[in-house]
Amino acid sequence: MSSDESFNDEYLDKSSPIRMSDRVLRSSSVSTSSDQRMPMNFINETYSSTSSNTKRISNENLTSRSIFYSASDHEVVERSSQIFDVSHLKECIDTAHICPGGRLELIIDAGKSFGLFHKNGLKCSICNKITDLTNFPAQPARHIQEPNQRLYAASAISGIGYDTTQFVLSLLGISVPSRSNFYNQVYNLYDQLFDFAHADFLTLINEIRNNAKCDSKTILNLTVSLDGTWKKRGHHSMYGVVFLIDADSGFCLDFETLSTRCGTCEYKSHQKKCSKTWDGSAGGMEKEGAKKIFERSLEKGVRYSNMISDGDSSAYETVKYIYANMLLNDRSRSISHENRTTTDLLLENEHHDNHNSNSFLLSDEYKSYIVTKEDCINHVKKRVSSYLKTLKNRHTGFEEEQEEHLTTTKHQKGVSSSINKRRRRRCLADGKPYGGGVGRMTKSMEKKLSDYYGLAIRYSSEVAKGTGIIFVYS
Ligand SMILES: [Zn+2]
Ligand SMILES: [Zn+2]
Repeated sequence: MSSDESFNDEYLDKSSPIRMSDRVLRSSSVSTSSDQRMPMNFINETYSSTSSNTKRISNENLTSRSIFYSASDHEVVERSSQIFDVSHLKECIDTAHICPGGRLELIIDAGKSFGLFHKNGLKCSICNKITDLTNFPAQPARHIQEPNQRLYAASAISGIGYDTTQFVLSLLGISVPSRSNFYNQVYNLYDQLFDFAHADFLTLINEIRNNAKCDSKTILNLTVSLDGTWKKRGHHSMYGVVFLIDADSGFCLDFETLSTRCGTCEYKSHQKKCSKTWDGSAGGMEKEGAKKIFERSLEKGVRYSNMISDGDSSAYETVKYIYANMLLNDRSRSISHENRTTTDLLLENEHHDNHNSNSFLLSDEYKSYIVTKEDCINHVKKRVSSYLKTLKNRHTGFEEEQEEHLTTTKHQKGVSSSINKRRRRRCLADGKPYGGGVGRMTKSMEKKLSDYYGLAIRYSSEVAKGTGIIFVYS
């Protein structure tokens, strides 16, 4: 407690039912004139209703602040809250049965409550007939009630677990579904979200195929961008996710999550449904995810034939030959199948086979199956500017030069040597500093250089495509 705060316990009425913890904390900077103080009888009134059920602390205990009493002396006043759908509440009240001249009595929790769902009743004071008053529209039996469904969805989307949810809701006096029920339903929702996402990706791909006027048998080539991220930074994360985005439409078309651990198998023996999908470093997750995404693309009717790289080409290298190798495997399988049927021509075929596969590797068909890479111009620009920053770090600042001086001190007869450290500003070969001043590198020049670099690539590629205009200055 800071010094400018004080208890106003000199005004505490010892016969009042106020417990020690209920004393009013007030800052001394507030005027203490008696007319501005909260009247004691008002406090008595407000507390007498809530403390009527609680055990009173004896007057002896109140005489000294140093006497502590056990926390168990406090009797917990159970309070409960319910969340209401107001339009449903209004409808229930409007349609409730009431005899002429009668009154409606609210019966709280008339039936069994399920988590956030409560079943109350409205009783007619004349005929005692009870109309149901649920806090949300009731779902049929064995269905998840709406408020609980919303709670599970909120947890699944936000990632907030049971303990936090229970903590917040219990402070508000709201009862929560049981832990096992909660997690069963949240995991259920995760599965549903996963299925929904993949079904959504399929409809997107079909839309893209329809827009490209692609018939059902042809496989559409797409330009895509792929990137991965981790749950935690620093290449130690146990979970990673890789996304694939269609460059033209900007839609996400697929994703793959990778996990180096499985919560179930850590407690029990290895289960059939195991969530461990990767047994390697966090850095290798992007490559593995890219491979899986590319492998399943053909069954969706698309081929990710062109990849926009973000500068890190390791993922590209793993998928570069993925379609070409699939084609090669298909070919060798069909050839070996033919071999089995015509065993007499085995030797001749083998000779043909080798010859065929070698020439096939050079064929245009094989080459067209190799995934090509494009570098994102903005990433190239970024790399130019980061290289300029490295240059700046290398050539600016100070460098230390050590000189040994022989100094003679007056008081101490003799010769002592001391090392004198001198710092000198780093300079370029022409003897002038790297940055600052006229004719030297500046921050705006760094930006200009990287921008022009990007512009030059963009412009020259447009010229190469035949869409650019060449200005001729004379
Ligand atoms: Zn009635
Ligand atoms: Zn497992």
